[in-house]
Amino acid sequence: MGARTLKDRGAGSLRREDVGARVRLAGWVARRRDHGGIVFVDLRDHTGVVQIVLDPDAEGLSAEVVHGLRAEYCIAVAGGVRARPEGTENPDLATGAVEVAVDELEVLSPADPLPFQLDDRVEVDEVRRLQYRYLDLRRPRMAENLVARARAIRTMRRVMDELGFLEIETPTLIASTPEGARDFLVPSRLQPGHFYALPQSPQLFKQLLMIGGVERYYQVARCWRDEDLRADRQFEFTQLDFEGAFWDQEDVLEVLEELAVAVTEELRGVTPRRPFPRLSFHEALERYGTDKPDLRFGMEITDLSDVFAGTGFRAFAEVLAAGGTVRGINAGALGLARSGLDGLVERARALGAKGLVWIVVEDHGELRSPVAKFLDDDERAGLVARLGAEPGDTLLLMADERLLVLEVLGRLRLDLGRPEGHDELAYLFVVDYPVFEPGDDGQLVPAHHPFTAPVDVETMRRNPAEALAKAYDLVLNGTELGSGSVRIHDPAVQAEVLEILGFAPEEAERRFGWFLEALRYGTPPHAGFAVGIDRFVSILRNEPNIREIIPFPKTQSGQDPLTGSPSRVSDAQLAELGIALRPEVLARWAEEAEGSSGE
Ligand code: ASP
Repeated sequence: MGARTLKDRGAGSLRREDVGARVRLAGWVARRRDHGGIVFVDLRDHTGVVQIVLDPDAEGLSAEVVHGLRAEYCIAVAGGVRARPEGTENPDLATGAVEVAVDELEVLSPADPLPFQLDDRVEVDEVRRLQYRYLDLRRPRMAENLVARARAIRTMRRVMDELGFLEIETPTLIASTPEGARDFLVPSRLQPGHFYALPQSPQLFKQLLMIGGVERYYQVARCWRDEDLRADRQFEFTQLDFEGAFWDQEDVLEVLEELAVAVTEELRGVTPRRPFPRLSFHEALERYGTDKPDLRFGMEITDLSDVFAGTGFRAFAEVLAAGGTVRGINAGALGLARSGLDGLVERARALGAKGLVWIVVEDHGELRSPVAKFLDDDERAGLVARLGAEPGDTLLLMADERLLVLEVLGRLRLDLGRPEGHDELAYLFVVDYPVFEPGDDGQLVPAHHPFTAPVDVETMRRNPAEALAKAYDLVLNGTELGSGSVRIHDPAVQAEVLEILGFAPEEAERRFGWFLEALRYGTPPHAGFAVGIDRFVSILRNEPNIREIIPFPKTQSGQDPLTGSPSRVSDAQLAELGIALRPEVLARWAEEAEGSSGE
């Protein structure tokens, strides 16, 4: 076709107004109908799909080439746009009123038979999708997700720029800092036996930038955490990280609202209502059993301990006597048969409950339940009133230690109340987190991270476990989109917090001496936040998994089936880094080699 531009129009851009125009298109053969005569091809490029018509007998076309077209051949064509014959228009397609009668065709690159069909309606095993991610990305769903992600990031940058923030990059080879997760380590060749860590977030660098006089910083930052992978978690992920000097909590929440609204408008075309609702950490836990409640529906957890204060029902009485609690939810008109109700009890047990009581409210208000005979009239009336129960409703009650009850009922609430295919967006700020939470071994650990300011230093000194922090989360539809806090800017308070966290003064000095020193040179009060971009976009795109939003993610087991990472490296590479593998690793390799050669 000679040396000139292969395409002058996007396939998806053609409309009725273009009838009569001559266009050059280039893209991929998405679908092909070839019954020996005229060949119809859906030509796809990054703008969409248009039908092209190839007559093998037409002048300028080779019948062999036309009939030789296969799925995903990369081709360039030229021809005239014409209206589709009446009755053959496709109203579901933006270009459905027209087609292109092709008179020039060039195969730019043929394609091998595909490992799977590139059709959004065909379910393909995820490992296979990732192994051929470059093909998977050609599917409309993935192509649209990439566009949405880029638009979200572009919008965030625009908002941050408008608000006067400066985009600054921070290093990715850093010293290990405790932020709650396991670090990824990178061996140093020049300092054998020494390691960098990949940042879990740019936390300390953005604080250094505040000390450095940058009053408003942001970054689209890649972060790494070596944690077990889940639907909403990958080893590496992207945050919109920001920080402001002379700021308090309200300044941060205002920026966050502005960002969230702008991104929602961009991707969903709707404007969320402001201000976003707020719940304290305590209230969120009490009412929804979690610090990231899904507020798209009610079904709140209700304390019924006083209703059963004098109960003759042994199971409840014993729990209450031992200082436990009885709480319940009104799950609404579930209409479950006995087996379904028993299934709920099983589910509660699997979540750690000793039991779960179900009560169905019958037509005339009587209660049907295996425990109904143990409840007196006052308890029945109290229960119905407290839970706002109506005929047909199913009530679920649990008695145990408070946190367990809240957790199990919170999970059941999500099982039973999650609105399917709901388009609604429920934003929420959770505030007033504690500074610390109990760790596995009784030692306090940071509820957020060690650089978070307590609301009141005196209270923290007296009773660290009870102290509240100036920390906050942004939640959307039951998912934590990100966290932030006001930071400690007083080196003495920072040292105290590290001590409460169990760092002996010498160790704190060795690991964070540089940071404690930095705080001593006129540090402005500062505060910030980080929004998980992958999570945010996945929710706005109604995707169940952040892997759908990440171009090249890892599988659940942390591998990349396409490039084969992680992989072994040569002895020479290890030697250069001063690293020898431990005998147990070599033994496992030997076993694996034997296992595979014996097959
Ligand atoms: N560095 C924190 C995080 O990644 C966010 C922040 O406190 O700004 O969760």
